[in-house]
Amino acid sequence: VGARPQFIKASVISRAVNTMFSDQLEETLLHTGQHFDPEMSAIFFDSLKINAPKYHLEAGQTTDRRAALTGQIAEILKTELPDAVLVYGDTDSTRIGATAAAVCGLPVAHVEAGLRSGNWAMPEEENRVVTDHLADLLFCPTKSAMAQLAREGIGNQEKVVYSGDVMLDSAMLFARNQSISQLQKQQGIVGPYALLTLHRGANVDDPKMLTDILTTIDTWAQSESLRVVWPLHPRTRNTLARINTDWKSIDVISPVGYEEMLCLEQNSQVVLTDSGGVQKEAYFFGRPCYILRNETEWTELVTHGGHVLCGNTPASIKSALERGHMDKGTVQTNLFGNGKAGELICKEIIKRYGPC
Ligand code: UDP
Repeated sequence: VGARPQFIKASVISRAVNTMFSDQLEETLLHTGQHFDPEMSAIFFDSLKINAPKYHLEAGQTTDRRAALTGQIAEILKTELPDAVLVYGDTDSTRIGATAAAVCGLPVAHVEAGLRSGNWAMPEEENRVVTDHLADLLFCPTKSAMAQLAREGIGNQEKVVYSGDVMLDSAMLFARNQSISQLQKQQGIVGPYALLTLHRGANVDDPKMLTDILTTIDTWAQSESLRVVWPLHPRTRNTLARINTDWKSIDVISPVGYEEMLCLEQNSQVVLTDSGGVQKEAYFFGRPCYILRNETEWTELVTHGGHVLCGNTPASIKSALERGHMDKGTVQTNLFGNGKAGELICKEIIKRYGPC
């Protein structure tokens, strides 16, 4: 693991190992150090009670250091000799972990397999495809992810398992732990609000692009008499320092802890995001959601869940926001399993590789 969403996904498996399978599974955690700010890493280990990593590398900006990190992880794997290497999601850490395991001839199990956005300009897309094609055991969060793997010729029933989404397990467990009135006081949130997150390179690396997105949202929020609460991702922080932030409705706050974030989502009027995880959580909590991208790997959210893909230009965002969606809420169907993905994944690992 190395990035915020992976800590959340990994915590579901760690919890299942610790509470249900401690006599059959032993987990050793390796943190690549891709996210290192305390508010992007340590806070999750504390609040989700994740076991401390046995290995903590200093990856930082991983793309420049892929080869070196792969070598470092391969050395660790040769010492640990695990029965399998479990990787999560689509970050550089996912791909580096999978590649290191393949170098050592160890089986890779991938949680969140089979997702595709079709956009190869996103490094995440490359990470997904490489990891899935290296994997020996693929856990799909959705039925459409299963179908995607079949189209790519890796639909073998022994390898591909429909698990449901570990993020649903987690959201169900932590949903009601935080009081909104306390959080509003802490964060200075007054009145009804939209929740915003932005961290994709295509949206946040170019100052003009970021300015255009924020100005469009600010103007819309004023007309709706909404505040916009925006927990700032570190990637976006650098660009923000270079642009005019003279908005009327947008309140920037530091990244918040997981339970706080779930609480902000549940109590928002609407969610605006380019995050994969936040899109899904909006759906879990029945919140309307505008996806600030041209495509999503969670396609069922748009076809069955009621989310709106609104691109990232001022014209496309304005047009989607003005068409209005806020009173509809999302359609509740069972797209992401039953909230027991963690247990199922552990059972499959034991079935496949034997108890320790
Ligand atoms: N999240 C959080 N605090 C924040 C913003 C997000 O705990 O300030 C959580 C969010 O609830 C979700 C996950 O981080 O579970 C999503 O991570 P991110 O948006 O960084 O990555 P992605 O899901 O796009 O890979």
